[in-house]
Amino acid sequence: MPGLRNGFAGPEPLRDDDAPALPPVGSRNRPTGTGMAELHESIAGLLASRGQWRQAYHHLRSAVDLMSVAEAPRVPEQLRHEVNRLRKEHAEAREQSLRDSLTASYNRRYLDERLAALLAEHAGSDAGLAVALVDLDWFKQVNDNFGHLLGDRVLQRVVELLQEALPAGAFCARYGGEEFVLVLPGADPGEAVTVCEAARSRVELHSWEQMAPGLRVTVTIGLAHERGPEQSPASAEQQLISADALLYAGKQAGRNAVAYRVGDEVRLAGMAAGRRLVMGSRAVGY
Ligand code: GH3
Ligand code: MG
Ligand code: MG
Repeated sequence: MPGLRNGFAGPEPLRDDDAPALPPVGSRNRPTGTGMAELHESIAGLLASRGQWRQAYHHLRSAVDLMSVAEAPRVPEQLRHEVNRLRKEHAEAREQSLRDSLTASYNRRYLDERLAALLAEHAGSDAGLAVALVDLDWFKQVNDNFGHLLGDRVLQRVVELLQEALPAGAFCARYGGEEFVLVLPGADPGEAVTVCEAARSRVELHSWEQMAPGLRVTVTIGLAHERGPEQSPASAEQQLISADALLYAGKQAGRNAVAYRVGDEVRLAGMAAGRRLVMGSRAVGY
């Protein structure tokens, strides 16, 4: 389940098109003939979504047959179990399809869908939405010096550290390669900086030596908390472009830092605040 492994509440699940839950056995609302037909229809839908067309067809036929019977039989327990089993499998398969196979963080597909939904929810509201792009520092050297397998383990551990203390509703997704996105719905700019700086610090202070002698891992984070027209959060694309430009600024300023913006000014959080910022060709802002 989202985030439970790491002790944070996790984000809202994506809406699914599952059929409504079955009423309990003995319930007054227990399916009648029509209810029975709906059950067959529901199973047919689940099977069809998995490409099991033949079985789906049989259930659909049963549904059609039942529709034409005045007094239909009661729902057998076996059928009830079958529906519940299929629903569970369907939900698990959907959850898997939204996860990155290496790190178990959410994948790009989830990020795109969820971010768009969150921005639509936040449109016109005062609630903020922060998007942070996290990139491992000198990660190519980690692979070169310690091997790809250890590099993979580092990515897994970094995700755990990033997720460790995220606020409720926040989530981490793999953006690609050694880059991850933290989405913090409802966080104001100050909170977002605090959350990202804490995540950066957790990675820096982790006992990497235990994984491999001489190993050291840090991340640089570009944090966007932008407003679009009418003070709504900017579009997902704009937020990511802005976060990417800030990430670049953080890299240029020596890495292992959180870069964010206050008005037109770019700043670094925490201990890095005193460093000199050089803005490169990836202009911050849009
Ligand atoms: P910078 O601080 O500028 O980000 O330097 P960097 O070395 O992290 O950046 P660069 O883009 O040069 O290298 C990223 C490396 O990440 C190269 C690539 O092999 C590695 N990488 C991407 N995905 C994976 C993965 O799934 N597993 C492992 N082990 N390495 C990966
Ligand atoms: Mg990178
Ligand atoms: Mg990198």
